[in-house]
Amino acid sequence: MTALIDVKNLTLKFRTDEGLITAVEDVSFSLDKGEVMGLVGESGSGKSVTAKSLMHLNARNAVYTPESKITLHEGNRQVDVLSLRTPRDLKIVRGGAISMIFQEPMASFAPAITIGKQMVEQLQLHSDMSKARAKEISVEMLDRVGISDPSRRFDQYAFELSGGMRQRAMIAMALSTKPQLLIADEPTTALDVTIQAQVIDLMKDLVNEFHMAIIFITHDLGVIAQTADKVAVMYLGRVIEEGPVREVIRNPKHPYTQGLLAALPKLDDLDAPLTPVAGDIPSPLERPTGCVFHTRCPKFIGEVCKTALPQDARVDPTHRVACHLHSEEVTA
Ligand code: SF4
Ligand code: MG
Repeated sequence: MTALIDVKNLTLKFRTDEGLITAVEDVSFSLDKGEVMGLVGESGSGKSVTAKSLMHLNARNAVYTPESKITLHEGNRQVDVLSLRTPRDLKIVRGGAISMIFQEPMASFAPAITIGKQMVEQLQLHSDMSKARAKEISVEMLDRVGISDPSRRFDQYAFELSGGMRQRAMIAMALSTKPQLLIADEPTTALDVTIQAQVIDLMKDLVNEFHMAIIFITHDLGVIAQTADKVAVMYLGRVIEEGPVREVIRNPKHPYTQGLLAALPKLDDLDAPLTPVAGDIPSPLERPTGCVFHTRCPKFIGEVCKTALPQDARVDPTHRVACHLHSEEVTA
């Protein structure tokens, strides 16, 4: 496997009237070419902020600590993403090597410009191809994502398409530049179950065809189980467990991961009560000391959870967890 992107010690705070708010803390992971990673957690866990950092796309009040480092491996080149400044340099992580799709496709399309015109502009921004060639590729991509009558759709506006079709068109636009990494931020959450399954299947096909890496952001571990190779579970800006998806689902070690899994509907018993993780995610203004999960943890083991930050422990070479229940057992 060849490395595509390395994230090391990413810590990001937002400057606000109430002071600095930690959104992401000491997050490290790497992704290989063609690999699919799920980023899971409740809203407010820092998934989207982490993903946007890869495109250096967070708001102006975002402050990265000096240790934070994101390296994109582009051919023989290593791009230090957080040092990119000019729009010209930033193009490589914004629509070049990396593309992003969102939960609400209307956010990706300007309402008063046809889908086709936006696709052509996007392609021309990232290459010096002719308009005619860009149109050809765009229509091909619309066809490829399963939009029938693509030439007609090309001349339509986003509002003229159904929700599922808009989602497909957004995927077509994001993939037309052949990115090496697609970031999909809750892309199926707003869709009904059947269309959701179709979009997931479509994305799986495209990964194979384009040998593209994907970061799939969702609060739903079930979606991850169907799509990803590995998963990072986030809570209050920290990755609390990471590993191969099968391993984490079969053998979850962190009480939070266990809670998320227990909250999934059971396919063999749809009437069984769901057990969500009790309590709410604390406000980032009242960030817990010690283990960030201690205010909700059903397995809380005492003072140590309140006072000491659990370090990552290896369950095996590819599976890590940050919880005092495991640190002694595993690292001893
Ligand atoms: Fe729960 Fe303590 Fe483990 Fe945190 S460190 S998840 S509070 S047992
Ligand atoms: Mg989000």
